[in-house]
Amino acid sequence: MRFRNAVLDAIEAKKYGGRLSEEVIRAVATGYTGGEVPDYQMASLLMAIFIRGMDYEETLALTRAMADSGERYSFPKCVDKHSTGGVGDKISLTALPVAAACGAPVAKLSGRGLGPTGGTIDKLESIPGFSASLSEEGFRCQVEEIGLAIAEAGELAPADKEIYALRDATGTVDSLPLIGSSIVSKKAATGAGYLLYDVKRGSGAFMKTVEDARVLAELLVRLSEDLGIKSSALITDMDNPLGSAVGNALEVRESVRFLSGGEVPEDLAHEARYVAVRLLELKGIPDPGSRVEDALSSGAAYEKFKEFVRTQGGDPDTLDKLPVSSEVHEVPAPSDGYVARFGALGVARAALALGAGREKKGGEVDPGAGVEALVKRGDEVEEGEPVARLYGGRNVERAEALVREALEISPEPVKAAPGILDSL
Ligand code: URA
Repeated sequence: MRFRNAVLDAIEAKKYGGRLSEEVIRAVATGYTGGEVPDYQMASLLMAIFIRGMDYEETLALTRAMADSGERYSFPKCVDKHSTGGVGDKISLTALPVAAACGAPVAKLSGRGLGPTGGTIDKLESIPGFSASLSEEGFRCQVEEIGLAIAEAGELAPADKEIYALRDATGTVDSLPLIGSSIVSKKAATGAGYLLYDVKRGSGAFMKTVEDARVLAELLVRLSEDLGIKSSALITDMDNPLGSAVGNALEVRESVRFLSGGEVPEDLAHEARYVAVRLLELKGIPDPGSRVEDALSSGAAYEKFKEFVRTQGGDPDTLDKLPVSSEVHEVPAPSDGYVARFGALGVARAALALGAGREKKGGEVDPGAGVEALVKRGDEVEEGEPVARLYGGRNVERAEALVREALEISPEPVKAAPGILDSL
């Protein structure tokens, strides 16, 4: 099918709410990636899709076409997880070494963050010497030899990369079929056989309600299963940051504390264990709960993380003392009371202002910058007690104002928020 005809036919059909055939969808995705379909036509089609939607078969066809647009890896025995993006979300750094130590090999390709905080790759690169750029051969060997590799995603699903950039510039990101096909195409191209989705809901997430998050979770699982990946999903809270650290080196330090048996906030400890158990369940490993506890209490999970860091060039001896910014500023509680909210989005914006994230693609992150939230929803606080620590020398006043805005204190006791809200 000629690309020019395909895209015009697609725009014509979709603007009146018609269906797109698999052949047309594939021709448009291929044509756009190859440069034959211009931005203005693709933007028009994306807006028609945004307004009219796509049914499940169209969404599956787009997912397949984008997954097939570049290289495809195959790791049928491996597990992977995908989070739709959260503030202080260090579940990959905590749950995956546990799963690997329990005999579930992990092959994860990940991205850099764009937006308030860094992605998993940015976090790992705060470890001196750590390299996230592995050749396909190196990645495969590492998965076989030590059962845990996390590398930068590179050129997987290039159609999604191009289309996502155009969506970002044309107000068409928040469309369910476009989000679902975008996420699953990258996962299908990575090729892990078992996949757990962690769909976030709340002020710091795409999905604002549990109901919307559940609809996305169901779509992700259905698309993945239809592409041969055994999948399940959970829905977790993102009104509040996960754990206390938000920022690259700060998050690695908190993850290392968890893996080495140190104290971390209960929401992080619970979710990391829960995700590890769910990954083992997906893979059919018996007795997952006690295996996870054994891997943590014996130190096997921490040893696995150190082995992974060493294999990718990092120095495991630096893990518990990773450098963070020496410019530290404490934010005091404005009054006595109970924490009703410590808004994830506000804390993330404060971390971004301090330099922990990227304002634009390709921007530099400061690995030592970020925010440590010292209180959680439900905690009792006294006026003047520190509620957050800011790390970094950039925009400290703005960061402090954002943290103060994110914090709501109630005179009445407030219940702590559950971290895991639903599961399928
Ligand atoms: N994450 C993705 O990878 N794609 C989307 O469309 C939204 C979030």
